[in-house]
Amino acid sequence: MNKIATKVTDQMDFFEGNDPVALAKQYGTPVYVYNERILRERCRDLKNLVTYPKFVVDYSAKANCNLAFLQIVKSEGLEVDAMSPGEIFMERKAGFAPEEIFYICNNVSAEEMQYAIDAGVHISVDSLSQLEQFGQIAPGHEVAVRFNPGVGAGHHEKVVTAGKKTKFGIEPKYIPEVKALLEKYDLKLIGINQHIGSLFMTGEAFVASIAALFEIAKQFPGLKFVDMGGGFGIPYKKEFDEAPLDLKELGEAIDKALYKFAEEYGEQITLRIEPGRYISAECSLILSEVHSVKHNHEKKFVGCDCGFNVLQRPIMYDSYHGIEVYRGSDVKSEQTETVTVVGNICESGDILAKDRELPEIRKGDILGILDAGAYGFTMASNYNNRLRPAEILIRENGEVVLIREREVLEDLLRHQIALKNV
Ligand SMILES: *Cc1c(COP(=O)(O)O)cnc(C)c1O
Repeated sequence: MNKIATKVTDQMDFFEGNDPVALAKQYGTPVYVYNERILRERCRDLKNLVTYPKFVVDYSAKANCNLAFLQIVKSEGLEVDAMSPGEIFMERKAGFAPEEIFYICNNVSAEEMQYAIDAGVHISVDSLSQLEQFGQIAPGHEVAVRFNPGVGAGHHEKVVTAGKKTKFGIEPKYIPEVKALLEKYDLKLIGINQHIGSLFMTGEAFVASIAALFEIAKQFPGLKFVDMGGGFGIPYKKEFDEAPLDLKELGEAIDKALYKFAEEYGEQITLRIEPGRYISAECSLILSEVHSVKHNHEKKFVGCDCGFNVLQRPIMYDSYHGIEVYRGSDVKSEQTETVTVVGNICESGDILAKDRELPEIRKGDILGILDAGAYGFTMASNYNNRLRPAEILIRENGEVVLIREREVLEDLLRHQIALKNV
């Protein structure tokens, strides 16, 4: 294999001695590739974030819900969040006990709440009307409530999930109404939670938000836990040496806040975080083959088989993913050039990287689209009736295993019902 641009995967020893060109040939492209060692490291980073004894990391499975992936997360001693009955179902299949699952729902039907109650998981509701609905179907039950303390953060307007302009959580001014509903339905409030948004790279907003959340918690004696939410960011521009989140500094600030809260609250209750992306993003990349290189008016386009049905983040959030280049032949690339890397979907918005400076790319090259493990496969679709890709895992000993088969054409017919007469 000819290393055309491989800085980030070399630094991480991502392929553990495997050849990405050979993997692409063996498993086909596009394919999601995961590295087990890096996944385990990210789990441990956050488990060891603080010294506070009753600290729980709830992996937020919406970022990546592959069964094998969840099994590894479980084996690292993390618990999980769920956002839907489907996630609860997958988490149970991966071996999580009901009490290790925290269902954080948003605008759901009574049937869906009932599913979660029957599954025996912890449940959080995020509006007064949903609390009322919960009380009606499960009077006397335990419940958690999601608050919106008014502090938001995130890398894009679409992922800021607290603050004054989002749909999530209950405003603190409604605490009396929350208490009245708890009393009316004899509900036991076991926890409160928040999630301010995704991908913060400095801790100020998070630390400010937990202080605000703890003020709310103090108004509810007898809680079992307070859940501080997720949003821990990762550096998407690693090829430019973007610095990672300073976990030491953030961990110390959080730790201080946790002990202070426990003292003021009068009890060391369980304090949780809910990271999704931090755990899952960096242990994965997509291998995609270049099928055409062309000039169109002034621009040079590199066309590969990773359309936005495979990776939605660029089109959905304008997000940046680093791109590496691997080549089967020993032809070198002498220079860099500015290209736009696009997929194979029939939409002009199907762009992975716009005007990106990359070494000269040739037809047949394999691209590595980095940091694809969070909100990658879970957002993949069958748009254009394309098949969702396979997922493979590089084990810690370097062995490669298939953890999801590529779809086949027959999968497109599943659940469709043809007319008997037309
Ligand atoms: C999405 C989500 C998370 C995880 O967000 P990340 O940015 O991936 O850490 C955590 N909690 C809730 C409630 C979420 O909706």
